[in-house]
Amino acid sequence: MRISIITIFPEYFDSSLALGITGRAIERGLVEVQPIDLRTWGKGVHRQVDDSPFGGGPGMVLMPEPLANALDTVEEAHRVLLTPGGAPLGQAHLDRWAGMDHVALVCGRYEGVDERIAEHMIDEQVSLGDYVIAGGEAAALVIVEGVVRLIPEVVGNAESIERESFREGTIEEPHYTRPAVFRGWEVPEVLRSGDHGRIEEWRRSQREERTAARRPDLDPG
Ligand code: SAM
Repeated sequence: MRISIITIFPEYFDSSLALGITGRAIERGLVEVQPIDLRTWGKGVHRQVDDSPFGGGPGMVLMPEPLANALDTVEEAHRVLLTPGGAPLGQAHLDRWAGMDHVALVCGRYEGVDERIAEHMIDEQVSLGDYVIAGGEAAALVIVEGVVRLIPEVVGNAESIERESFREGTIEEPHYTRPAVFRGWEVPEVLRSGDHGRIEEWRRSQREERTAARRPDLDPG
């Protein structure tokens, strides 16, 4: 699988693409993640990629031409624009994209991208949530981490992916590790009982209780 990221800050991704699960997956050749510098197609000596908005108003807009040229290089990819105005990003997006050969993520900056690009050269628009951050790069990283860990063989124990939050319309049960008592706080007795039937039942009820209390909007089906 390949993930391309169109950005004015390709160096933004340097450390995160070298670390952890994502770094190892790239090293093992299970995925290729390629930041593409939008300024390659910038205008003039300053490689300008933005201009003032038609109709006036504050801020700058990413010009269509550099973006179109960058997107032409990833024509066969499923092209995703990161924008607060997109559909809220969910696990279902990540599941779907993890099955694709090539996904291209377009990071906005300033006031965002010229709308003609969004309209004619983008397949899907997604948002991290109902808040505004400075650029699409942080959102692209979220997607890279979320997708890469779903690629077969990337995560050692496939069960950990099958059992986690949002798979069955619930959030996950709590986890504990040693010591059994820390600062007087005890690990629930059932988890130390060795009774796998009781443990499974406790975990199921924790998932249901937590979901009802914290995320009643989720649908356990
Ligand atoms: N003027 C835009 C608006 O009000 O919707 C906000 C632009 S924001 C300062 C600059 C860029 O950051 C956006 O083009 C987008 O790529 C990215 N961005 C900001 N918030 C985001 C979010 N919640 N989800 C995804 N991308 C976001």
